Amino acid sequence: MEKVWDCIVIGAGPAGLSAAVNLRQRGKEPLVLSAGDNLLRKAERVDNYLGMPGLTGGEMMDRFTDHARQLGVEVRLAQVGNVMPLGDTFLVNAGGEILTARSVILACGVSKARAVPGEEEFLGRGVSYCATCDGMLYRDRDVAVWGLGPNAPEEADFLASIGCRVHYIAAKKPPHLADGIPFLEGRLEAVEGSQTVERVRVGGSIVPVTGVFILRASVPAGALVPGLPLTEDGYVCVDRRQCTEIPGLFAAGDMAGQPLQVAKAVGEGLTAGLACAEYLDGASR
Ligand SMILES: Cc1cc2nc3c(=O)[nH]c(=O)nc-3n(C[C@H](O)[C@H](O)[C@H](O)COP(=O)(O)OP(=O)(O)OC[C@H]3O[C@@H](n4cnc5c(N)ncnc54)[C@H](O)[C@@H]3O)c2cc1C
Repeated sequence: MEKVWDCIVIGAGPAGLSAAVNLRQRGKEPLVLSAGDNLLRKAERVDNYLGMPGLTGGEMMDRFTDHARQLGVEVRLAQVGNVMPLGDTFLVNAGGEILTARSVILACGVSKARAVPGEEEFLGRGVSYCATCDGMLYRDRDVAVWGLGPNAPEEADFLASIGCRVHYIAAKKPPHLADGIPFLEGRLEAVEGSQTVERVRVGGSIVPVTGVFILRASVPAGALVPGLPLTEDGYVCVDRRQCTEIPGLFAAGDMAGQPLQVAKAVGEGLTAGLACAEYLDGASR
């Protein structure tokens, strides 16, 4: 029978790992999914985290990760495309594999990427962040893949395998891009069309496509859980216990708002972990 996790934590930064550690302390079995390294690893020196001055961001992340692993937390490399709440369980699309959990904690940080012109306007009308979720809609059609995340070549391969004519856009050709997929060097400059997507602009040229898959390492919160209420600044709306409007769904760290700092992410991870453990205990009674 398919495994049902107590909680799937999306993100292995300070917030996600803190949530997972506190779930373990409460005897729960979380699975942490991570799309790859987090931004903190780029910090040369972190001086404002209590009791650990002078560490590099990488050293700090290694300590956080070791702590979680010592407590038996499983951390898996997988980019989540979307989360579907089904009442008392959630389906989580982790790089094409569908996982089931009784609760979900969103701890995905913030995307530093600025939307390209047309991206928001055509979201759901040709623009997608998840090849596995939406690929079938574009069978036998021309699609562009803008490969920014680590899984993008595999996703392009998947689209080609189901019959899409894929044009792969990236600054550099990935070594494992499948032979039959044409490569366009550059960046996605604009998505254009009328009712739906009709073309994209790349390095001054126009490529006619009906779909464009923008595959960044992080997915905007609103696209991850469709209909999830966000603040005006695009952060996930949560209460003081990190609960979202959806029962069993929590959010912590940078994605839940300012200040975007490690100590706040760790604290919110703790609060979300404890609130989630309480939710699981209540739900199992
Ligand atoms: C250069 C730099 C220097 C900094 N210096 C400091 C400092 O000195 N002091 C300080 O307090 N803060 C500092 N910060 C800020 C700090 O890094 C963040 O506040 C903190 O990392 C937020 O933690 P988080 O867990 O919310 O998100 P993140 O650390 O951003 O982690 C997000 C996680 O989610 C994963 N993820 C995202 N989308 C998906 C998806 N769709 N599926 C699966 N996984 C996903 C990512 O791979 C990552 O593991 C700095 C940041 C940068 C970039």
